[in-house]
Amino acid sequence: MGLEKSEKIYERAKTLLPGGVSSPVRAIKPYPFYTASANGSKITDVDGNEYIDYCLAYGPKILGHAHPRIKAAIVEQLEKGWLYGTPTELEVNLAEKIAGLYPSIDMLRFVSTGTEATMSAIRAARGFTGKNKFIKIEGGFHGAHDAVLVKAGSGATTLGKPDSMGIPGDFTKYTLQVPFNDIEAMTSLIESNRDELAAVIIEPVMGNIGPILPEGDYLKEVRKVTQENDVLLIFDEVITGFRLAMGGAQEYYGVTPDMTTLGKIVGGGMPIGVFGGRREIIEMIAPSGGVYQAGTFSGNPASAAAGIAVLEVLEKENVHRILNAKGDELRARLSDLVSDMGLDYNVCGIASMFKIFFGDAPSNYQEVLKCDKEGYFEFFHRMLKSGVFLPPSQFETNFLSFAHTDLDIDRTLEAYEANLK
Ligand SMILES: *Cc1c(COP(=O)(O)O)cnc(C)c1O
Repeated sequence: MGLEKSEKIYERAKTLLPGGVSSPVRAIKPYPFYTASANGSKITDVDGNEYIDYCLAYGPKILGHAHPRIKAAIVEQLEKGWLYGTPTELEVNLAEKIAGLYPSIDMLRFVSTGTEATMSAIRAARGFTGKNKFIKIEGGFHGAHDAVLVKAGSGATTLGKPDSMGIPGDFTKYTLQVPFNDIEAMTSLIESNRDELAAVIIEPVMGNIGPILPEGDYLKEVRKVTQENDVLLIFDEVITGFRLAMGGAQEYYGVTPDMTTLGKIVGGGMPIGVFGGRREIIEMIAPSGGVYQAGTFSGNPASAAAGIAVLEVLEKENVHRILNAKGDELRARLSDLVSDMGLDYNVCGIASMFKIFFGDAPSNYQEVLKCDKEGYFEFFHRMLKSGVFLPPSQFETNFLSFAHTDLDIDRTLEAYEANLK
C-alpha cells in the first residue's frame, strides 16, 4: 500500500491550507490520504488504495457514496441550474416532508450547514424568550461558532483544545455547561439560572465524543425540567436526524423538544442545515419576525433535490429497519470479539452508529477523556493499512451505511481481530 501521491499533495496543501486540510479532523498525521473517488461503501485514494468507509463524511452518507437515485436527482437539477436566489417549490416540498416527520417542527428555515443551524436556533431562542443564557452539555458539539466552542466535542476535543483562541470571553459568558446523563446537575443549573435562561441545547445521542447514549429516562427528564422552568429545549439532531429513525432521536426516544436542528443526512450529501420548531418561535425569524437570519446559498435547489431523494429512498426501502438491525449485529460481533480476546475495551452505539472505546464505556465527556486515545490512533492506522477507514479519532462516531455488504462486515471484523491483537 503506497501513499506517495497523497504525500506529495500534502506537501503542496500544507503551505496553503492550515494543516493541509479544510476541516481539522481530516488532518491525519503524518499526512492524510487524499481522495480520488467514492462509491457505495468504498472510498478510493489518489494512489489507488480502496478502503471500506465507516467515516462516511462524518455522518451524511447513510446510503453510501454516489447513490444512483441521489445522483440522478442532483443531475436533473443541474440541468435546470443550481442556484437562483429566488424561492423554489423544491424547498417547500422538502419542508413539508420534514415537518410531517418531526412533530417538534411546525415551521423551519433552511441554511447551508449544521453550524448555521445551531447558531440561528440559539439566536431564535434568545429572541423568543428575551433571555441570553443557554446550557450545553460538556463535550457536546454544535458546530464551530463562538458561543458553542466551550468544552466542545469533535475536532476540538481531539486537539485537546476545547476552547478556541479568538473568541472573546464575553461571547461565551452566557454559555453554561453540564455533564451528560446527570439530571441533578441539569436541574440545579436550570433552577439557579431560570430567569436568565433561554434554552438547553443537547445532542440526544452524543455523536461527537461518542456515540454516548442517554441513560434511562434522561431525555424525558430533561424535557420535563425544561418545561417546568419555561426554558426552551433544542435537540441538535444534525447527526441523529434521519439516522436513528425518519423522525430522528425524538421519534426513537419519544421526546418532543421545542426546537430541532438538522443537517448532514437531510441534504443527501450536499451542503444543508435546518432549524425548526414551534410556530410561534420560528415566526420570530426575519422577514416575518425580528430575529435576523439570511444566506445566499440557503435552500439551494441542488441540496433540496438531493434531500428529497434521500428521504424517499430511506422510506421506500425501509432503510432504518434493515440498517439498524445490521448495526445491532455488527456491535454484537465486535463485543464478542473484544471479550473473546480478553480486552478491557467496550463497544458502544445505537442504530447504525458504533464505536470501540479503548477503556470503559463512557457516559459523559470526563469519562471519554480517560480512554486511550494514542492507542486508538495507532489502531486507526493499522486498520487503514488493512483497508478499513475508521474516523481517525477515539472521539468520532463510526457509521454504517445501507451500502455496506455482509462481505464488507466480515472483512472489517477480520481486520479488527488482526489489528486488536
Ligand atoms: C456536524 C455537526 C454540527 C455542525 O454541522 P456542520 O454542517 O459541520 O456545520 C452541529 N451539530 C452536530 C451534532 C454535528 O454533529
